[in-house]
Amino acid sequence: MKSDVDLRDAENMARVKEIRQVFIEYGQKASFVTPELAAIPETTMKQFIAEEPKLEIYKMGLMDVYRMKMHTLSELEEAVMAKTGMITGTANSTFSVFSNAEMPRVKASIDGEEKELTPANFSMARSSANRELRQEVTKSYWDNYLNYEGTFGEMLNGQVKVNVFRAKARNYDSALEAAIKPNNIPVEAYKSLVKNINDNLGTFHRYLELKKRMLGVEQLMYSDIYAPTVKGVELKYNYEEAQELILKSLKPLGKDYIEVVDHAFNNRWIDVYPTAGKRSGAYSNGGAYDVHPYILMNYTGQYNEVSTLTHELGHTMHSYYSNKTQPFATADYATFVAEVASTFNEVLLNDMMQKKLKDDDMRLSLLMSMLDGFKGTLFRQTQFAEFELAIHEAAEKGTPLTGKVLTQMYGDITRKYYGHDKGVCTVEDNVAVEWAAIPHFYMNFYVYQYSTSFVASQALAAKVLDGDKEAKKRYIEFISSGGFRLSN
Ligand SMILES: [Zn+2]
Repeated sequence: MKSDVDLRDAENMARVKEIRQVFIEYGQKASFVTPELAAIPETTMKQFIAEEPKLEIYKMGLMDVYRMKMHTLSELEEAVMAKTGMITGTANSTFSVFSNAEMPRVKASIDGEEKELTPANFSMARSSANRELRQEVTKSYWDNYLNYEGTFGEMLNGQVKVNVFRAKARNYDSALEAAIKPNNIPVEAYKSLVKNINDNLGTFHRYLELKKRMLGVEQLMYSDIYAPTVKGVELKYNYEEAQELILKSLKPLGKDYIEVVDHAFNNRWIDVYPTAGKRSGAYSNGGAYDVHPYILMNYTGQYNEVSTLTHELGHTMHSYYSNKTQPFATADYATFVAEVASTFNEVLLNDMMQKKLKDDDMRLSLLMSMLDGFKGTLFRQTQFAEFELAIHEAAEKGTPLTGKVLTQMYGDITRKYYGHDKGVCTVEDNVAVEWAAIPHFYMNFYVYQYSTSFVASQALAAKVLDGDKEAKKRYIEFISSGGFRLSN
């Protein structure tokens, strides 16, 4: 993690590279384990577990060997598959270098100043109150991406091919199944998320209509989506105030929970402020099982960073409780549930702020940011998930995924979500190339879990906020259970 504190530090970077190489080599050298386990008959294994109590904590992992048996290859084939790790990351790393560093950027005049339209400047300009500026930067930003449509298409196509190759090599029916079956998530769960969101796009359109009314525009455009709807409201809190707000908002989770968060604040679990060379954004890392989780923040005092901080603390507390309660073998939780505890905390913070703030504009601004959360996490991530599924299915059917094809597919889905044909929100033509800017499409069916986690945390938090004692108890049990599962 030290390398994230200063990305310019070559020594730390070299250590990161070295440890990554160790992981790959470890994977190769240990690749014989699973095939050897699979060679033991399942009944024999169950007998071993029944006879030896120390095996109990490995039960799920051992039984997973049989659940995954039809996708496990021979020892030699596994060794070859492990070696593909050296080459399968190329599409993603090319994308990362090109879009973060080498892609030429156009200039735009922002607030009377000529600025390069980097992702950060674009994101700032598109959330400006000045509509002309929003439309102008949206046009030039995506027009620029269209210049590299073919290149981005080859990169994403390369990644999709990796996923399709892995699925075929391991006897899966589809790339989707290959991505989610290892975590025991049924393909139907993914598809039903997409279907249910599609069935409820009307609710999303109500949100867009509301946005249109608040902005006072005749026709809502995609370039208006990030515009501020409440004028002149800016909530700011210094770090001490943020801690106070968060501790207060977490009260429904009880004294024990709050004490640990307080301890985290006072014992340097968190790298708080932006410094030169520091990695942007925020994350929680709970990997140090017998130490404690760590958080990286870039806190500057905006309200949404208070929200980010409580989000990361949710991850941290999930790791903390699981690491404390579970033995190492079952401490790690599946990604599928990873965003529940984090978004749960955001709901609590929002609820408290709604009650605390008396100013109408401020409350309105918070309500809107909550709705924006539904847009960004539930609808947008499912839109991504639908696109991801569509492009993999197209590749599986042999459709060549060129940049043009990807833009066509992304545009169709985006227009459907935003009610373009119904006149709800006009999606500008060049916005259809937005897929080219989204790193998550290199994450192999990852983003749907934002939506499912969000839905789960909304439901769980509603019960806890209702004062349901049992719900609170079950929630703490849930974040203490890591990857432990009673039955199989
Ligand atoms: Zn998160």
